[in-house]
Amino acid sequence: MVSKNSKILVVGGAGTMGSSTALHLARRGYTDIRVLDMFQPPSGNSAGNDMNKLISTQYVDGIWGRLALETWSEWNADPLFKPFLHTVGRLDLAQHDEDRVSQLKKQLEATKAIGREDNMEWLSNKQDILKKAPFLCEADIEGWKGLWIRDSGWVAARDALTAVGAELRKLGVKSAFGTAGTFKSLILGEDGRTCLGVRAVDGTEWYADTVIMATGAWSPTLIDLEDQCISKCWQFGHIQLTPEEVESLRDTPTTYNMELGFFMEPSPQGVMKFVNEFEGYTRMATCRPFGSDKDIKISVPRSHALHPTDTIPEDGVKGIKKVIKTCFPNFAHKPLFDTAICWCTDSYDGNWLLCEDPRYNGLILATGDCGHTFKMLPIVGKYVCDLLENKLSDEDKNRWRWRPEGKKPNDTGREGGQPQDLADQKGWCHDDEIQSDSTITALAGRMNGHSI
Ligand SMILES: Cc1cc2nc3c(=O)[nH]c(=O)nc-3n(C[C@H](O)[C@H](O)[C@H](O)COP(=O)(O)OP(=O)(O)OC[C@H]3O[C@@H](n4cnc5c(N)ncnc54)[C@H](O)[C@@H]3O)c2cc1C
Repeated sequence: MVSKNSKILVVGGAGTMGSSTALHLARRGYTDIRVLDMFQPPSGNSAGNDMNKLISTQYVDGIWGRLALETWSEWNADPLFKPFLHTVGRLDLAQHDEDRVSQLKKQLEATKAIGREDNMEWLSNKQDILKKAPFLCEADIEGWKGLWIRDSGWVAARDALTAVGAELRKLGVKSAFGTAGTFKSLILGEDGRTCLGVRAVDGTEWYADTVIMATGAWSPTLIDLEDQCISKCWQFGHIQLTPEEVESLRDTPTTYNMELGFFMEPSPQGVMKFVNEFEGYTRMATCRPFGSDKDIKISVPRSHALHPTDTIPEDGVKGIKKVIKTCFPNFAHKPLFDTAICWCTDSYDGNWLLCEDPRYNGLILATGDCGHTFKMLPIVGKYVCDLLENKLSDEDKNRWRWRPEGKKPNDTGREGGQPQDLADQKGWCHDDEIQSDSTITALAGRMNGHSI
């Protein structure tokens, strides 16, 4: 059991789950918290270090429905988060996929069943869609149908992560970034079971009563998770709009099509992000995470922040351009820029892995984000703290437990097929240079080893 003056390390504390955890710990009165990360907030390696992310309340049942409603309230109520929420609504549309259409209809029925029908509307055809989204007037969306969801929109992700980082400093949370903040291994007691802290890549030893690993897509490469999570990447790209085009898209709903991809309104500077939907890519490689006595072949992230000249696969470029051409034929000629790959780690059943590691006393795992978790920034840390304080409901404890036994061969944690591998993709160009510690330090910013 922890006490308010327990020494707590949050590894990955400049990312999404880690910074939320540190925030909730600090707000609950814990006095000796330190975040460790390769990068200072907003961490360059975080999947959340991005212009914008979708948020929606379209699921009302199941665990993600419960969490979506809770996080929506927090984004609206918490003065730390509210400035980054844009309540513009959402269109969730389908084209040929009848399964998707029936899923969307089920969401509508579930919403009606709890008396929230004013939150949704069924759009049966192009005319209905254009009433909500006149900006799609040139779009090739004949035959599309789906939902409009009022309590939805997007959040300014990078800015929100930055604000949480600043709040942590204000609340007295300590930190170490660069090589001194980069996890290399656990420090174990003589019994081989008690986690005493973390050794960083520069050799610094950080001792603690509790270590929380919230290292996103890197988690399975750092600690042997026994195949419970698989890291995959997606890609996005941007186009530049004119001030007039920005004005015409101001406050427009986010638009999502599971068969195609999604986009949100452009930034005031005219930058508009597009993402294509697919199963994601792995990058299979050999590594030896802590706790494994042999090298294992798993998907190992290769971050855009550390490899900024990497290009994205040709199919990715095609996929992103297809979203643009379908929805904004007038923008189809605009060049894509700042294309990048972004990494998540999916648990096999689509739920977080949020539990004490049964092999090491004092090690908490907070990972397995399944692509849903940026919107949970205001609340995910609450559940990590509840776990620490033994306040999680039995249902949540069971859902997020250590569970390697449950994985079936084809489980991916998401809809769709098995991911292909990046190495097999045409156009994924990369240098083979491995970043040295000094490069990591330089890229991580000026705060190597800096402790507040
Ligand atoms: C293209 C794309 C679009 C997405 N869109 C949405 C969306 O619209 N809405 C939504 O809710 N979610 C979205 N997501 C998912 C969301 O971004 C993730 O679920 C969430 O950011 C994961 O949080 P995390 O804390 O697990 O990982 P991260 O935020 O990635 O944080 C991991 C942290 O661990 C640190 N770390 C790694 N290795 C080490 C080490 N050795 N030592 C110390 N620190 C380390 C990293 O630097 C990083 O800061 C999207 C993801 C992608 C890829």
